[in-house]
Amino acid sequence: HAIRRPEKRDDFRKFACLAQCMEKNKFIHIRGAQEHNLKNVDVKIPHGRLTVITGVSGSGKSSLSYDTLYAEGMRRYVESLSTYARQFIGKIDKPKVDFIQGLAPTVAIRQKSQTGNARSTVGTVTEIYDYLKLLFARVGKTLSPVSGEEVKKHYPEDVVAFLRGQKEGSRWILSVRFDPGTGMDRKELLRIYKNQGFSRLFDGERICEMDEALEQCGQAGKDWYLVIDRLTVHVDDEAYWNRVYESVETAFFQGHGELFLTDWETKKTYTFSSKFEKDGMEFPEPSVHLFSFNNPYGACPVCEGYGSVIGIDEKKVIPDTTKSVFEGAVAPWTGNKLGWYKEQLILHAHKFGFPVHKPWFKLSDEEKKLVWEGNEYFTGINDFFKEIEQKSYKIQNRVLLSRYRGRTVCPACGGKRLRKEAFYVQVAGKNIGELVEMSLEDLKAFFDEIKLTEREMEIARRILEEIKLRLDFLVNIGLGYLTLNRPMMSLSGGETQRVRLAVSLGSGLTGAIYVLDEPSIGLHVRDTKKLIRLLKRLRDRGNTVVVVEHDEDMMREADYIIDMGPGAGVFGGEVVAGGTFDDILKSGSLTAQYLKGEREIPLPRTRRKHPDIIRLIGVRHHNLKNVDVEIPLHQLVVVTGVSGSGKSSLIAETLYPALHKKIFGYGEPPGEHSALEGAWKTIKNVEFIGQESIGRSSRSNPATYIKVYDDIRQLMAKQKRSKLLRLQPRHFSFNVPGGRCEECKGEGEITIEMQFMADVRITCEACGGKRFKEEVLEVTFQGKNIHEILEMSVDEAVSFFETAGEEAIASKLKILQDVGMGYVKLGQSTSTLSGGEAQRMKLASYLLKGNKMEPTLFIFDEPTTGLHFHDINKLLQSFQKLIENGHSIVVIEHHPDVIKSADYIVDLGPEGGDKGGKIVFQGTPEDLVKDGKSELAPYLKEKLKMS
Ligand code: ADP
Ligand code: ADP
Ligand code: ZN
Ligand code: ZN
Repeated sequence: HAIRRPEKRDDFRKFACLAQCMEKNKFIHIRGAQEHNLKNVDVKIPHGRLTVITGVSGSGKSSLSYDTLYAEGMRRYVESLSTYARQFIGKIDKPKVDFIQGLAPTVAIRQKSQTGNARSTVGTVTEIYDYLKLLFARVGKTLSPVSGEEVKKHYPEDVVAFLRGQKEGSRWILSVRFDPGTGMDRKELLRIYKNQGFSRLFDGERICEMDEALEQCGQAGKDWYLVIDRLTVHVDDEAYWNRVYESVETAFFQGHGELFLTDWETKKTYTFSSKFEKDGMEFPEPSVHLFSFNNPYGACPVCEGYGSVIGIDEKKVIPDTTKSVFEGAVAPWTGNKLGWYKEQLILHAHKFGFPVHKPWFKLSDEEKKLVWEGNEYFTGINDFFKEIEQKSYKIQNRVLLSRYRGRTVCPACGGKRLRKEAFYVQVAGKNIGELVEMSLEDLKAFFDEIKLTEREMEIARRILEEIKLRLDFLVNIGLGYLTLNRPMMSLSGGETQRVRLAVSLGSGLTGAIYVLDEPSIGLHVRDTKKLIRLLKRLRDRGNTVVVVEHDEDMMREADYIIDMGPGAGVFGGEVVAGGTFDDILKSGSLTAQYLKGEREIPLPRTRRKHPDIIRLIGVRHHNLKNVDVEIPLHQLVVVTGVSGSGKSSLIAETLYPALHKKIFGYGEPPGEHSALEGAWKTIKNVEFIGQESIGRSSRSNPATYIKVYDDIRQLMAKQKRSKLLRLQPRHFSFNVPGGRCEECKGEGEITIEMQFMADVRITCEACGGKRFKEEVLEVTFQGKNIHEILEMSVDEAVSFFETAGEEAIASKLKILQDVGMGYVKLGQSTSTLSGGEAQRMKLASYLLKGNKMEPTLFIFDEPTTGLHFHDINKLLQSFQKLIENGHSIVVIEHHPDVIKSADYIVDLGPEGGDKGGKIVFQGTPEDLVKDGKSELAPYLKEKLKMS
């Protein structure tokens, strides 16, 4: 890599570092990489730097970063394990690479988590919850729910210290209850005490000898106390205090944890307890287990720590929150018989001021609670169901119950998963349940301002540091709107990756290599800058950070860039440029041409307009603030906004299911909203195309997915040799027995399941990876057998079939080319496709249907994931075709080039979480710039070249 001296002074530092790295051999040297499409790549990645790998989709970025760099790092790690551990893992194939020098421990942070634990939350994954448990166990104060006073446990030291603080020479009686709960007869107890060597009793006034006790003491019905010792305060006599300490220990033992000190002069009595109790209740002492919902000791006994139980499902009882009680909001209270319950409420409502005509969602929490709990005038929903349950011998009641049953929030812990005693414990006025429900941003503020005593601070300092460090990363990475109790499963790929990044930052590992996969996905321009700062922090701790990215800002800020290309698949696999941002600009690569503006994604000539509009009214799902949104049809609508502003809640969780239900009459329940109105009837179908891969099945591939494989099988079966061997189309299938290799069941590979790592796949020995039996492979078309055809890239196959005059097959394959997938092999398993590729393959299958498909609303979730500028260009053209075919498109996107191409923008914000959920703007890009309120306005203004 020729390093030229950059002109700008600013870049000099970067340059100097880089040169130094290269000189001192401080880099990872990958030589002869040939994994997948890589063409003997020889590349150096500087250690301790931030390196971006870019290039068009399919050029080989992942093959280099994951399948070579990370895979080899992983393999060497496994090799270094003990033989014992290795026997479970087996032999991992070495990636196709001559050698890698300067490798260090390698960590991959990918978009989707490989292991999904249903109980993982943001708190547990980031370890913040572990530190909170420690904090609460060490410095938490238990407050009695009765008096609100602190529950304290006394140790003998506390009692001694109390006495030492008293007046010199003052006299005290140390006593315990005569019967601390044995329930024995008085005479019997007296006998036992005498045998133990005790000789006196106390009745609060007088002391008497035990022998005289029955006559003298406690005559007036007073309580008896057993005197353990009589003490006089001698402040300076250490030996004396040792004796006192022993007496106190004895007293705690005899008194079953309770003792009394009475001032002989005033007869004032002080109680001490070695038990953790107050107001007649005993409390569990704060310990780590008490705050752990994975531990039977701390878990809520009703739901066993899951937070939910099978019960009456609120959502099913009140399915439509826009209805009032009068209109039948309470679903089971309908019909002739059960309508009576509703009538009772309506009849008496004026007596307690209940608004029967108010829509359910507008009722206050108290009013809602009233309907559930009832009062003297009417039966509440809870009691209603109890009555039904009592009469569940009737079949119709059992049917009724089953209709309203579901997983619901646990009534005992309110979904907080811990036993109630855990919440009596507070730190700085808050219990652990309150903390895990706070947004991370508020939580950070709480810990920044926390006030503790000096002693507490001493104990908690380290713990607080760890908590604050992690919160700081999470907030800085734009996740301040999440809460600690949020299940990891409910996060998007980008959010998951960023949480994991924060975990890595918190781990303090140095000298490692981190490989990341488009971490900017799902991030607003503004938050990408924060992300870059964090990546640099990771780097500055002495780590090597390698990011596969397409984001321009990320490239500008990188220390080093590797540009892959020039094309995709067989046309790629080379490093076309390497160096600083300036070096890349000078290289003339495709990336450079877009960065310099020599090539660009053109602005649409006009914005489409159409009178058909869908209106979604009063959306209140998650953080959405009762918003109304308009989605014009037959055009490209882009929904944007910072992460956590509510895009998925609005589109994926409300618009999509609501529309699905209207059109097909069934489906997932949509998020809470008032109505779906407007031209939805003109839509006959709705398709959601998310990021999830098309199928785990290794049996599906691009050819089967778009159904062109059927045509290819027909073609092969028509060949002379097939007729001779009596082979039919089914023999060319690897999904059914017949022609396929039975050893690997037509997969060409055999999967070996691993104990605690990803599965390992090895080539099938029987067929040598060719997937078919010998005789099937003998059949050729234009000199190519079925295996060789499956090995062709789409691009190759198009020209092959075109030349051979098989137009029908070629034209179907061309659709794959159109969506930018010309580089994939026909037989490549769909499970190896990236999220973006999978999405585009679905897109292709829709395009293939042409205008035979009924008017459909397509919803895409971040379709530019993994796409280079060049690919985005193609994607936008495909969208164009879909609209021309009579369809409508809604995309959730951040990419400026997609936003500028929109006909209509819905911008959510202004922030994430509670501070978001509003519509900042809806309308055309030009109007957004003029309106100026959206944070996008300046960025878009530049893109639109508006003055
Ligand atoms: P990028 O990361 O730049 O998008 P990849 O490294 O994923 O590109 O892919 C480079 C080429 O290797 C593509 O043609 C892709 O289809 C192919 N490829 C990727 N994974 C596999 C695999 N598991 N088996 C066969 N080919 C693969
Ligand atoms: P975006 O798609 O714009 O990133 P989301 O719609 O995912 O935003 O999130 C909007 C708000 O709703 C955030 O405050 C988020 O924490 C909250 N939210 C999203 N999904 C859930 C869920 N399953 N449970 C609780 N809160 C959620
Ligand atoms: Zn519970
Ligand atoms: Zn085989």
